[in-house]
Amino acid sequence: MSKLRDELTRKPLRISGYVNGAFTEPKAVEEMPVIDPTTEQRVATLYESSAHEVDRAVLSARAAFDKGPWGRATVAERQAALMAIHDAILAHADELAMLETINTGIPLSQTRAVHIPRAAYNFRFFGEYINQSGGDVFTQEPGLMSIVTFEPIGVCALIGPWNMPLGLTAMKIAGALAFGNACVVKPSELTPLTVTRLFEIIAGVLPHGVMNLVNGRGQVTGTALVSHPGIDMVSFTGGTVTGAAILGTLAKGIKGSAMELGGKSANIVFADADFDRAIDAALMSSFMNNGQMCLAGSRIFVERSIADRFVDTFTRRVKALRIGDPTLQGTEIGPMINHAQRERMARYAQSGLAEGATLLAGGERYSKVNAGYYFEPTAMLAPTNALSICQEEIFGPFAAIQVFDDEEEVIGRANDSDFGLVGYVWTQDLQRSMRTASALRTGTVLVNTPIVRDLRTGFGGYKQSGLGREGAKGSQAMFTEMKTTIIAREPRSMPRLGLAEA
Ligand code: NAD
Repeated sequence: MSKLRDELTRKPLRISGYVNGAFTEPKAVEEMPVIDPTTEQRVATLYESSAHEVDRAVLSARAAFDKGPWGRATVAERQAALMAIHDAILAHADELAMLETINTGIPLSQTRAVHIPRAAYNFRFFGEYINQSGGDVFTQEPGLMSIVTFEPIGVCALIGPWNMPLGLTAMKIAGALAFGNACVVKPSELTPLTVTRLFEIIAGVLPHGVMNLVNGRGQVTGTALVSHPGIDMVSFTGGTVTGAAILGTLAKGIKGSAMELGGKSANIVFADADFDRAIDAALMSSFMNNGQMCLAGSRIFVERSIADRFVDTFTRRVKALRIGDPTLQGTEIGPMINHAQRERMARYAQSGLAEGATLLAGGERYSKVNAGYYFEPTAMLAPTNALSICQEEIFGPFAAIQVFDDEEEVIGRANDSDFGLVGYVWTQDLQRSMRTASALRTGTVLVNTPIVRDLRTGFGGYKQSGLGREGAKGSQAMFTEMKTTIIAREPRSMPRLGLAEA
């Protein structure tokens, strides 16, 4: 595998846009390095898509949607294209996983086992889903037939984050294409490698213009895209502050959106939980993906009677996490995405201490390496839910544990958050699990299970965690317009106006 790493990084890659079936000529309008967070070295040069290039991309998608064959493609044709993309991703799985690890610092074991298979599966899932999904027909009223159909929305702007670049963007692309749309994709400027490579490996699968790519910073390329009058909607995954700014822009044009935003998810462990599994899941949901997960369950609540045992075991395991080169077998924690993210971790460790938390593990920059934005996996014991480390999304390997005494109290504290993405519940009491699941104000609740993403269900957030849901019907709602057609099956009475004698 390190041979593959060497091959992929021998000379810096060139990242540009892809418009109307061809990569755009890299122009030094604005260029910036793409950094490998493990080595802190440049692995690619990103040639930023200017507002002019964004305009070309949107017009290309517009033409493909309004006049091209894709809008009239049969389900079988769309399925074939989606399956071809699925197969192409799997055929390049090793390379894509390595590229993702090089660009994000996320352990290769995870990009290979989760990120890339999941990216591929999105295309297969939506390819199969469109054969099953349909509209509604209402015939209860004898004289009427009311038909609800779902039609493609048009040109979708698909904007992704850096923490699961291909997997999360693939979800958007697959959904948008499956329902007959054209799209313009914008990956994070920090992690453009795998999404750009996807465009290379699937060249020729789709008619020109159906899928376009722009690369660049949010403030430049992103704003040009979301404010372009030619788009019909934005599907965005990223931070809550960015999401709010995009919503402000979209409001001016009355454009639709779907927002997958931040989280601060509670992980509630009752005393009767399967202890070992609850510990494993707490570690996984706090530290997998280097802790950089929207659905991290890193706000952990433990019932008092098992708290000492839980805290001791959890702390010992956090201290034993294997930190290192993410491309090596056995590494469990790689570097943070960049210097700023590492500094953010340090700031939260300090604010935790200043606000009264106890440090259990970590809390410092990891120094046993020559390079890389490493931070020690960190755990703190928090006296209340009011601390910044319990209220704000840290987005790194950082868990905050609180102790609780009863069910009502813990539900209140779990819901005391601006976010509402996921809730985790560990108990062997069926009725309590049902009560807690229904009381949690989150888009997803996971009971006695580690993180699962079931594409048949909707994923998204309550409160500041987002708007809309991704997956099956949620994606259908996101990427289609619902149209109602009402047909009279027999003459209906109506007032006859304007018949009065003058
Ligand atoms: P971010 O908001 O900084 O950036 C996300 C994307 O938006 C990037 O492509 C960026 O270039 C672009 N962008 C930035 N400003 C823009 C603007 N004004 N107009 C248009 N585009 C703009 O987020 P990030 O730091 O890349 O990702 C981390 C965040 O994403 C975390 O808050 C995390 O919780 C969230 N996230 C949510 C989910 C979910 O499913 N709910 C999944 C993954 C990540």
